[in-house]
Amino acid sequence: MVVGEMVEQVDLAVVGGGPGGYTAALRAAELGIKTILIDAQPKPGGVCLHMGCIPSKALLHAAEVINVSRRSSEFGIKFGAPEINVDELRSWKEGVIDKLASGIGAMLKGAKVERLVGRASFQDSKSVRVDRDGESAVRVKFKHVIIATGSRPTKLPKLFKNPADIDSPLILDSTSALALQDVPKRLLVVGGGYIGLEMGTVYASLGSEVTVVEMLDGLLPGADRDLVRPLATRLEEEFKQIFLSTGVESLEVKGNKVVASLKGKDVPATMEFDKALIAVGRRPNTDELGLENTEVEIDQHGFIKVDEKLRSADKRIFAIGDVSGQPMLAHRAIRQGIVAAEVIAGKSSEYDNRAVPAVVFTEPEVAWCGLTDTEAKEKGIKVGTAKFPWSASGRALTLNEPVGQTKILFDPETTRVLGVGIVGPRAGDLIAEAVVAIEMGAVLEDLAVAIHAHPTLSETINEAALSAIGRLERQRAKEATSAV
Ligand code: FAD
Ligand code: NAD
Repeated sequence: MVVGEMVEQVDLAVVGGGPGGYTAALRAAELGIKTILIDAQPKPGGVCLHMGCIPSKALLHAAEVINVSRRSSEFGIKFGAPEINVDELRSWKEGVIDKLASGIGAMLKGAKVERLVGRASFQDSKSVRVDRDGESAVRVKFKHVIIATGSRPTKLPKLFKNPADIDSPLILDSTSALALQDVPKRLLVVGGGYIGLEMGTVYASLGSEVTVVEMLDGLLPGADRDLVRPLATRLEEEFKQIFLSTGVESLEVKGNKVVASLKGKDVPATMEFDKALIAVGRRPNTDELGLENTEVEIDQHGFIKVDEKLRSADKRIFAIGDVSGQPMLAHRAIRQGIVAAEVIAGKSSEYDNRAVPAVVFTEPEVAWCGLTDTEAKEKGIKVGTAKFPWSASGRALTLNEPVGQTKILFDPETTRVLGVGIVGPRAGDLIAEAVVAIEMGAVLEDLAVAIHAHPTLSETINEAALSAIGRLERQRAKEATSAV
């Protein structure tokens, strides 16, 4: 029962304290706007910090250490089997999260952003009610509001023969998988996307026998097939099995086991596992926000419809990050947070980025930005392709990582860079150069004449550009000769 309701009046309320929300609040405060940040969780950082990007990357670092040590026997350095203390690994990961959360808290305090912990729901287009602990509530009246409430895992309730099984500790989602309670001997991963492959990599390195079941005919549906191939080859060695074009018909918890019924070509009809991770996508947190009390419009997938200024159909209300559509990535939320705050401050900002990098932090990493081959084919866009295999990169060979590729898609008339895809270790760091190139309208020559340090993996971008320019020159010379 709510016994008291206080009222607060602010210029800007930001609902959701993830990367989108806290960035928006900081930028707004910097621009002199009186801002309150409302989040259901006591510590700032949202899904990304507490149950997404950061914990998964901490665990993936541990996985990399294990896997690189194992592979170092290929160059004469042999370690014994790792002794894994799951409790220490978990508390190291929690420590990383706590440090970052404290840092964000300090930044918000320094910027004089007021923080309110509680669950917000819209009363109308000018106010939200924030329920704190079921005992008290605050009504926050605002001139503008930014919704940044993020997303949550998609559950598959229809899969479960017994509806109560969905809440069994043997059935994991990304949050419980990251909590790392133990290392199951046999882990089923439903979904071969970002989470399935990243968390599959973590658990396989810690000793689980990982089985991935993906309903489509390839892993990572959004990525070009030539980038996925080297990863799929590595994962076939690391995982127990990968079933493509396969559906999970049902899941049943029987005692301390999970029994899965599968449907696909050459797959067993039933299999038994110790735990199952469901990683089949995420849905936006827009359903319990009281948006029916506003003019905000929602699309068929539950995302808030916004324009290029990130304004919803209700002119006081903005939406950023996972609630505003795909791709559901933290850096998109961050950029959108800055844009929304600037628009509210009266600046002429727009969310018009051409290249949103996508990075899958597997071994090897897969990263891409701008146009992909798949998209070019679908849209009938003519592209030239520049490729450089990492087997010819000095740095890749010194790292004992010769399997990788850097690919540039360019406009064949102007050589303007349209898209870049990279597979190999640290692809996620390398893709930054491609993002800048695309945003600046760079042509192949820009990437070719800029000096890249030797020996580094960044040279693969330079080499890909140089090889395409050489090929274009030879082609033009041939055309000129045959025209004479
Ligand atoms: P979120 O981070 O989801 O934060 C939303 C906040 O709103 C939460 O704190 C929530 O408590 C709060 N909230 C919700 N409803 C209410 C309410 N009614 N009232 C008050 N508060 C509310 N992205 C990457 O770019 N790189 C990665 O490496 C990466 N790894 C990931 C790994 C995993 C396992 C997962 C699950 C996701 C990963 N993502 C990654 C995606 C990334 O986490 C999201 O894109 C990002 O968190 C979205 O940020 P956001 O600001 O939109 O919202
Ligand atoms: P996803 O969309 O990346 O992958 C889901 C996969 O599950 C797809 O391949 C899909 O075909 C498959 N699938 C769907 N239904 C299925 C079913 N019934 N049976 C078998 N397979 C099925 O989703 P995710 O892995 O859950 O991740 C959610 C989102 O979180 C990502 O799309 C991404 O936006 C974000 N994320 C990003 C990172 C990163 O940036 N490195 C890491 C993790 C998550």
